[in-house]
Amino acid sequence: GSLCGIDIKPREFQVHEIEIMKNFAKVIMDEIELRQIASVDGLTRALTRRAWTEQAKAEIKRTRRHNRPLSLAIIDIDKFKLVNDTYGHPAGDKVIKQIAKMALERSRGSDYFGRYGGEEFVFLMTETPGQKAKTFIEQFRKMFEACAIEIGGTNKLWCTFSAGVAEWKESEDISNLMARADSALYQAKENGRNRTVLVD
Ligand code: GH3
Ligand code: MG
Ligand code: MG
Repeated sequence: GSLCGIDIKPREFQVHEIEIMKNFAKVIMDEIELRQIASVDGLTRALTRRAWTEQAKAEIKRTRRHNRPLSLAIIDIDKFKLVNDTYGHPAGDKVIKQIAKMALERSRGSDYFGRYGGEEFVFLMTETPGQKAKTFIEQFRKMFEACAIEIGGTNKLWCTFSAGVAEWKESEDISNLMARADSALYQAKENGRNRTVLVD
């Protein structure tokens, strides 16, 4: 990047002023690096919960202004405790990495994919009505279900996830939208897992 000093009349920078600018640039670079570390999850490269929530709030504001559709999916891996208990925590981590890798490969530049908690992910889809979001998540779910995940050596395993989808409603805030998607996820789990439920 570059740092720009502006005056009301043209002049040369003094040596001590250049030193001040250099120090200032260093402070800004440190700040940017810290923000990047805090916004990307180390294991999955997905957005952290905090960074994702910030983006989601901004996107809701934008959507409200332009009256465009916006949808949210919450994804939770099925019976994940069993994966950890049976194959160990490192194998569980490989599953988490794999689901995030596939989701990030599928997401568009205008989507926001975040790791919300341990094995729980959030997908905010701009310009997308609920039904379309559900279709997209269902495609992803089927792809993930079919994927053999390598967990070390020649060992492979197959996992599934459940998802709840909600379309943003006029005047709704992020926690409201999250609560509705979460209730759809709960229904997906109750109805037998490995499925996507769209809330009305
Ligand atoms: P359900 O189908 O109802 O979701 O069952 P579940 O076993 O997946 O239940 P739940 O979602 O409550 O389990 C989350 C488990 O994920 C508990 C925790 O041990 C594990 N977990 C959370 N974070 C990580 C992580 O970073 N790595 C690994 N390997 N496991 C994690
Ligand atoms: Mg969970
Ligand atoms: Mg789970």
